[in-house]
Amino acid sequence: MSKKTKQTQLDEIKEEIIKQQICQDLAATATQLVFGDGNADADVVLVGEAPGKNEDEQGLPFVGAAGRFLNEMLEAIGMKRGDVYITNIVKYRPPDNRDPYPDEKAEFLPFLKRQLEVIKPKLVVTLGRHSMEVLLPPGLRISQCHGQPKRYKGQVYMPLFHPAAALYNGGMRQTLIDDFMKIPRVLAKI
Ligand code: URA
Repeated sequence: MSKKTKQTQLDEIKEEIIKQQICQDLAATATQLVFGDGNADADVVLVGEAPGKNEDEQGLPFVGAAGRFLNEMLEAIGMKRGDVYITNIVKYRPPDNRDPYPDEKAEFLPFLKRQLEVIKPKLVVTLGRHSMEVLLPPGLRISQCHGQPKRYKGQVYMPLFHPAAALYNGGMRQTLIDDFMKIPRVLAKI
């Protein structure tokens, strides 16, 4: 039997989320599942929180204002969206863009972990507190550990501020840009 490509394996995970009716309440109010986008062979995976309005409409992560900011930062380090893989912990839009509930994050977490197991990136960049909290050990404060790479259970992570939070906050915006610029050096050392 031929070996399945990473993209095929990702497609299978997506189908399972739908078949297993994960987070039915969110699915009922969302337009569609926003599973992930980009290169299944990427060295870098970026993990956000949950889709917003634009993402819900287009079925793709980070396509609104925060996504444009993310694209600019990727370009600044010589990368395109097609070079990385982008996803969220929670894969349906929470109503009115509220924060995802702990049980929603817990229900989606095994699927996020399987996405990472398939892609096997060198570096996982967490965007914001929510993805940091589900992927890294408890007790970390984003205000203290942002921009610092951490190896945990054999995977290198880099926690960053969320682009939506940083977009209109001058200080946080510059900090996020400065942290983002460290990605190539961190990658080169892994
Ligand atoms: N914010 C997120 O966390 N994810 C998206 O996909 C868009 C905005």
